[in-house]
Amino acid sequence: MDGEGVRQALLVAPSYDHAEYLGAESLGIRSVAATLLDEGARVTVVDECPAEPPAEVLRMAGQSSLIGIGALFTRQIPDALALARTFRSVSPDAHITIGGQGSYSLWPRMLEECEALNSACLNEAEETVSELWRHVIAGESPASVRGMYLRLGGELLFTGPRAPTEDLDALPLPFRGGREIAYADSHVTLCTSRGCAAHCSFCQSGNYANRHPGAPRWRYRSAEHVVDEIEHLQQAYGARMFSIVDDDFLGGDGRGIQRAQDFARLVRTRGLDIRFAIECRISELEAALLTTLRDVGLRHVLIGVEAANDADLRLYAKRTTPQQAAEAIALLRKSDIEYSVGFIMFQPLSDLGGIRTNLDFLLANNVGSYRRVVNRLEVYPGSPLIGYFRRKQVHFREESYRMYYDFQDPRVALLYEAFVKLLKPFEELESTAARAIFRLRAEEGPAELHALRRLTEVTENITRALLATAYRCLQVAESGGVPADDKRIVAYAAGRVDELRNVLSP
Ligand code: SF4
Repeated sequence: MDGEGVRQALLVAPSYDHAEYLGAESLGIRSVAATLLDEGARVTVVDECPAEPPAEVLRMAGQSSLIGIGALFTRQIPDALALARTFRSVSPDAHITIGGQGSYSLWPRMLEECEALNSACLNEAEETVSELWRHVIAGESPASVRGMYLRLGGELLFTGPRAPTEDLDALPLPFRGGREIAYADSHVTLCTSRGCAAHCSFCQSGNYANRHPGAPRWRYRSAEHVVDEIEHLQQAYGARMFSIVDDDFLGGDGRGIQRAQDFARLVRTRGLDIRFAIECRISELEAALLTTLRDVGLRHVLIGVEAANDADLRLYAKRTTPQQAAEAIALLRKSDIEYSVGFIMFQPLSDLGGIRTNLDFLLANNVGSYRRVVNRLEVYPGSPLIGYFRRKQVHFREESYRMYYDFQDPRVALLYEAFVKLLKPFEELESTAARAIFRLRAEEGPAELHALRRLTEVTENITRALLATAYRCLQVAESGGVPADDKRIVAYAAGRVDELRNVLSP
């Protein structure tokens, strides 16, 4: 409790692994924070908290009645548990809870491994944490709060399922306090829908809170509610660029498309000058809709292609075809909208033929980046894919909540090693070009548009050089060699990188 008698809550997200993910604000815990503020709590949110928290965060923890830790990725869990133990050492009586998409299906296990935790919240937690808060400040047992695993009298109690929130407009807008410095570049993230109706086998999002019996798999905020938030973020923080982080902005079997049209109409009628990015499925893209959205500021779309060979597409249950993916890419190009492509080049049972088909697709469509080309399937603990792979004799080792595996085909293992080593220098070129494009996109004057066209060409040349190097590695692997040690490929890659670096230099 603080000096004025107001009870305090601390919500923390552990740091991300920046080698694999760009940092971002933790919208999940910020949405929970907003509901706690409505309950009258004093709330502090700490994004990207290091496993050894700064003194100021420890001081907050010591004053808090409720401490929540949100893990967006499973790989954050070891740090999340370390934070729980540290917070317990300074706050013996606080209720410490954990949640977030990364904790999916691991709730009892985390409680068994970490005595510092009182509970784990299942799925989306706004309503659960609000109720939990009321019990905590009243000094009552939260055993009746549905949607949790709870440590009670030395036992773990499942308090019962809780349906996900259907009326997302009824939730308060995420609490944005403490982010003013991060918003200084006018870039903000926001979430306008939750869930995804698809069933991709590798995807945690597709399983997270979307499978509650009777609840819709794609839930959404109304266009008006979203545009109100955008206007608010513009006025409060000068935000102009918005990354919409929904799994599927256009989901809902047509409802998302209708909502996107309403959204565009409202942005136009209110005269908002914005740029925004979305993520969606390739089967949802339409020429007319893209034109409409581009006119009101759509500048980037992330689509999940994932693979081009039949075996991988079946394994991932993508239910899309390479032809559809190629058409979606062509449509985005024609609409003059930047895009990136989710792609999983390797999985435990990959063979060289399937990888060649994947590379052929990337080359034919001139897409691909270092991260996409070296990307290997990540199987999270509890994933239904683990049983399938085990039946195929794939052996997994688990370490710190991450599942590690070897490729079944040793030639694939050699190829993967070569890709990681020899393609890595292209990543620096990609980042330099992407940063420059981001800056130019923000301005969009005539001079910037000219520079943008030039940079887009350079980016395409980087992709071609990357893929040409990858093909050389593949040829050596197919003939039984060790591509990572092939001096001709090493020299070829170094030459292409030097040449492109010179083109990129101002
Ligand atoms: S479409 Fe995307 S978000 Fe939906 S299940 Fe597949 S990978 Fe996950």
